[in-house]
Amino acid sequence: MLVDAFGRRITNLRISVTSRCNLNCFYCHREGYEAYNELSPEEIAEIARAFKTLGIRKVKITGGEPLIRKDIVEIIEKLPLFDEISMTTNGVFLARLSEELKSAGLSRVNVSLDTLDPEKYRVMTRGGKIERVLEGIETAVSTGLTPVKINMVLVENFNTDEIDDMVEFAKRYEGKVIVQFIELVNLNYDGQGHFDVDKLRERFEKGARMIKTRDMQRRKQYIFENYAVELVKPVDNTEFCSACNRIRITADGKIKPCLMRNDNLVDVRGLKGESLINAIKKAVMVREPYFRG
Ligand code: SAM
Repeated sequence: MLVDAFGRRITNLRISVTSRCNLNCFYCHREGYEAYNELSPEEIAEIARAFKTLGIRKVKITGGEPLIRKDIVEIIEKLPLFDEISMTTNGVFLARLSEELKSAGLSRVNVSLDTLDPEKYRVMTRGGKIERVLEGIETAVSTGLTPVKINMVLVENFNTDEIDDMVEFAKRYEGKVIVQFIELVNLNYDGQGHFDVDKLRERFEKGARMIKTRDMQRRKQYIFENYAVELVKPVDNTEFCSACNRIRITADGKIKPCLMRNDNLVDVRGLKGESLINAIKKAVMVREPYFRG
C-alpha cells in the first residue's frame, strides 16, 4: 500500500495518454503539463502493473483528449484488472467508440459538458459541436459505461445560470447520469470566472435523500430519488488536499504527484521491476498537500 509522508493512502491513478486535444476550451488547465513523446500501450501497461502491485485500485484515463489516440482501445485492453477503469473525455468520439471501449474493459466515463447551449458550447470549446457530445452520452449510457458523470466546470457569468438545466438533463437518465459541478482552477490566479461551489451546498442539502462524503478528496455527493449531484471544490480547500488519494502519470511517463506543481516530477519511462517500484515510492514520498491549513 502506498502512503505518503502526510498519511494519505494512494489508491487512484490518473493516466494521461496524450496532451493533444481536438477542442480548445478557454479555461483548460491542460492537467498542468504538456507532453510530446507519448507512451505506447505497452509502456502504459508496464507502469500500471507496477502501481497495481502497490495497491492502486482505480485508474482514470485522461488527456488531452484520450479518444484521439488511434490505439486507445488497445491501451485499455492492455491494462491489468483494477476495481475500476474510467475515462474522462469530451465525448466527441464516444458514440463511435463506446462499445469497443466497454469490451476492452472500460468501466465508465466522465464526459465534459459545461453547457447545454450549442452556441455557448461552440464558444467555450472554440469550435466544438454539442450534438456529437449529446449523442456520445446517449451511447455511453446505452452501452453501460455507467454511471456517466458529467463534468461541468462552473465559470461565473458564463454558465452558472445553467445549473438547474444540467440537473434536469441528468434526471432524464434516471440515475445513470451524475452531474459533477467543478470549481474552476485558475492557473493564472487572477480570480477571473471564479464561482465558489460551496454556494450550492445548501441548495442540494435540502431535498437530498442521502448525502455521501466520498473518500476521494472528501467530495460531497447528494443523492436524490432519480439522480445524483457531486460538488468538486479543489481551490483553497485544505480538506480536498488532505484527502487526496490520487497520483498522476503524464503522457510521456513522468509521475506527477500534484496537479498544481511541476517541480517534483519523477521520470519512470523505461524503468522496470525493482527500479520502477522504487521510483514510484520516491514520487509518493515527495507528495505534499498543495493547500494546507
Ligand atoms: N479531454 C478530456 C475531457 O474533456 O474530459 C480530458 C482532459 S480534461 C483536462 C479533464 C477535466 O479537467 C475536464 O472535465 C475539464 O473540464 C477539467 N478541467 C480543465 N481545466 C479545468 C480548470 N481550469 N478548472 C477545473 N477543471 C478543469
